[in-house]
Amino acid sequence: MKKTTAQIPPAAPSRNEFYDEKKWCEQCGTYVSFLMSVNHSYCVHCGGRVRLFSRNDSAHFQDHVQRHKWQAS
Ligand SMILES: [Zn+2]
Repeated sequence: MKKTTAQIPPAAPSRNEFYDEKKWCEQCGTYVSFLMSVNHSYCVHCGGRVRLFSRNDSAHFQDHVQRHKWQAS
């Protein structure tokens, strides 16, 4: 897992994930197209698990998801 400072991607993350069908890939460090499986989504480039939001965004999102912490891959 990359520990580098998260950069704000050129394309600002859209809150409308149904329209902007991309998710954040830690390995690629950008928003990527993804493959969906039952429980998780995976980057089409590196096969890593992707998330809805980047680390920057997730910081704001933590309060909502802290009950079921994200499993670090
Ligand atoms: Zn990737």
